[in-house]
Amino acid sequence: MMNNVTRKHLFDLPEGVIYLDGNSLGPLPKSVPQRVQKMVTDEWGGMLIKGWNEADWFTQPGRVGDQIGALIGAPAGSVMMGDTLSIKVYQALAAALSMMPERKVVLSDSGNFPTDLYMAQGLLELMGQGHSLRVVDPEDVAGAINDQIAAVMLTEVDYRTGRKHDMAAVTQTAQKVGAVMIWDLAHSAGALPVDLAGSGCEFAVGCTYKYLNGGPGAPAFIYVRPDLANSARPALQGWMGHDAPFAFDMDYRPAGGIERMRVGTPPVIQMTALEEALSVWDGVTLDAVRAAAIDLMEQFVAEVEARCPQLTLASPRDPQKRGSQVSFRFDEGYAAMQALIDRGVIGDFRAPDIMRFGFTPLYIDSGDVSGAVDILAEVLTNELWRGPKYRTRAKVT
Ligand SMILES: *Cc1c(COP(=O)(O)O)cnc(C)c1O
Repeated sequence: MMNNVTRKHLFDLPEGVIYLDGNSLGPLPKSVPQRVQKMVTDEWGGMLIKGWNEADWFTQPGRVGDQIGALIGAPAGSVMMGDTLSIKVYQALAAALSMMPERKVVLSDSGNFPTDLYMAQGLLELMGQGHSLRVVDPEDVAGAINDQIAAVMLTEVDYRTGRKHDMAAVTQTAQKVGAVMIWDLAHSAGALPVDLAGSGCEFAVGCTYKYLNGGPGAPAFIYVRPDLANSARPALQGWMGHDAPFAFDMDYRPAGGIERMRVGTPPVIQMTALEEALSVWDGVTLDAVRAAAIDLMEQFVAEVEARCPQLTLASPRDPQKRGSQVSFRFDEGYAAMQALIDRGVIGDFRAPDIMRFGFTPLYIDSGDVSGAVDILAEVLTNELWRGPKYRTRAKVT
């Protein structure tokens, strides 16, 4: 059965595959190869260096940033593309800390993605000013916010369990004590409605290869609240974020506005793939996507619980309290996921025992959900995961 946002015909999905991993790497929109081909041959090949002006490569990071902004409730001119999410986390945190020189604690939670915590640890160490990173359980975040905290840095949706923070409420709690709020939207952008402007947060970051289907290595984004855009310190002072990059001054002077968050030369081929991939969102609202995703998740949870008693739900039961993924715990989760993938149902595994399934209604419908559960039930009931080839761990899980 089709939901009202399904547009499977726009995606190039392999025959016989049910793809429940768009939360990790979105599939290929059909129009991307031709657009990339054209960029490579006509723009790079034909225009050479002139492409920066004639094909608007230079302004592309801001133009694509505005398109992403429209999907996350951010006004035009407040989102810039570039680099990887790890880099943008570093940049946002550094900018936040320079706004709060007298406070020395960064607060995050144990549901955050490790790279966010690693980048924070590296930054604080390098600053050498006695900063510390305080990591609490997700339920304890609100209680841990006090006037020692310089910045609260959280990922809205937990990559393992899908548990979702209340963005508006946490932001308000942080700002009440004068702390700067940074949201990571890696598992939110393109998955659910986000109201960045309404939340009032100072900074947000995210990637575009998950729910936004930009392809492996697609550039990340950073949002700076408009009233801070002319004062936020970009930390990574690259020439493309300079006020006059082609004046080649010896000294750094940040550009006005969000342009200052640029670092170096953008990945034009990859940015072009992303720009084209965003066309699949024409005419869809995130509210409709969210409603359809909740229907799919509710169907999946009900069918799995009825047919696969071996699995335990690891995600919040209330769909409003999670993002667009459902996770189940199973001791042999790694092997079971390999057996499932071998049979055309692609989800993924997160240590130690989480089987993770993403629901992306643009290309997944309720027939896919039933089909996936049929195969999952078969793998578990017949213990097909015992096959020796499912037990060796690959480099990327
Ligand atoms: C996927 C993800 C990342 C990945 O960072 P990259 O620099 O793009 O590899 C970082 N943080 C969170 C919260 C993520 O979900």
